[in-house]
Amino acid sequence: MSADLERLLNEPTCSVNRNKSKKDKMKKCAKPVPGAAAGGCAFDGAQIVLVPIADAAHLVHGPATCAGLSWGNRGTLNRHGDFHRLGFSTDVSETDIIFGGEEKVTKMCERIAEDYNPSAIFVYLTCVTAMTGEDIDTWCDRVRRKTGIPVIPVNSPGFIGSKNLGNKLAGDALAKYVIGTKEPENPTPHDINIIGEYNIAGELWQVEPLFRELGINLAGRITGNARYEDIASAHRSRLSVVSCSRALLSLARRLEEDYGIPWLEGSFYGMGQTGRTLIQIAEMLGDADLIERTEQLIMRKEEEMSEKLRPYIEKLHGKKVMVYTGGVKSWSVIHQLEELGMEVIGTSTRKSTDGDIERIERAFEGTDKVLMPKGDGRKILALMEENGADLLLAGGRNMYTAMKARIPFVDVNQERIRAFAGYDGMLVLAECLVNTLESPVFDLARSEDPWKEGAK
Ligand code: SF4
Repeated sequence: MSADLERLLNEPTCSVNRNKSKKDKMKKCAKPVPGAAAGGCAFDGAQIVLVPIADAAHLVHGPATCAGLSWGNRGTLNRHGDFHRLGFSTDVSETDIIFGGEEKVTKMCERIAEDYNPSAIFVYLTCVTAMTGEDIDTWCDRVRRKTGIPVIPVNSPGFIGSKNLGNKLAGDALAKYVIGTKEPENPTPHDINIIGEYNIAGELWQVEPLFRELGINLAGRITGNARYEDIASAHRSRLSVVSCSRALLSLARRLEEDYGIPWLEGSFYGMGQTGRTLIQIAEMLGDADLIERTEQLIMRKEEEMSEKLRPYIEKLHGKKVMVYTGGVKSWSVIHQLEELGMEVIGTSTRKSTDGDIERIERAFEGTDKVLMPKGDGRKILALMEENGADLLLAGGRNMYTAMKARIPFVDVNQERIRAFAGYDGMLVLAECLVNTLESPVFDLARSEDPWKEGAK
């Protein structure tokens, strides 16, 4: 595992690495430090990537408490059923720790195969079972041969690092054991992979109609709205699009090295970024007719949306917003808010990769906007007060910070129930922001206690 870890911590495609001096390159990326797993361990990160594969079973080899992680709260949606929402755990006991968990893992995999006949079984190594040296690679291989169902080991003990590292480990497992194991039934010259888009609240579904209209086929969804067999045949796609976060760049690079699939980084947050990503896809697929049709689609969509967004932009123009998303998508959300006429006063970089941070820095260059590597509720509120911010755009955990301070709050994190991607997502976001800012509840909450003397 340590060789894999070394490789994942030295991603050559990341522009931070590309721009390093020869001497700095020797140092590789920063290794996880104690505390890096707070707010989400590597195992959590691996589940974030893999559990959206709806027709696969996910067996957690560890204490039952690991299986009780936050994944169930994520708003990832899938049209291929909800089997993935069923949790399986070996629930290791003291006896398993002393005598080893091989029998338990093998029996559970066989039982899952018999009772549910899933497309595949992912087996996750967690802290305890990694420390006792469980050899899940060998056991998974044995069960695969016996049952005929792909059984994939995911070496993701939480203690080795953060969620981001877990995302990379999951990508590594897909590259090693899944992608390339099946041929697509009807390949087309416009098949693409989309990597790092998990269809939170249905965001992929806001973008899919655009691809359908252009005749671009989302063959490998890694992994929002995914089926195992689509990922298994993703090696025949003509292009990979890494959406928003750079944690899965390593997977895109592996696909390029192993199968010659070129890749690009894109984002579907905001009209500008959606348009740019679509045109880049068309250009990289090298089809002149597709490029022309894409340009026409972008023009039509932008015209339509400008009209629809006008009343919202009038209300949002000049409003100040603090972004605290947990880092992953901060840089793209910033552009989206600016397109709506809002002023972003600062953002967090918590859990962002080095590459994501570099992008935010570029967006903030020459301004006095604030980057917050770490921040608690008190710091966020102090910053908002100092800058006269009107609204906090953050993850669910900060909802209580906003409630206590009686300030308008919009939830944009993994638990959200509204989708903000593509052109349609812009309208949803604008509506959400205006409704929140105009909600009478904040005036009421800020008013004086009616029982106090002199209160109006
Ligand atoms: S894998 Fe380790 S850090 Fe993650 S939930 Fe389990 S015990 Fe905790």
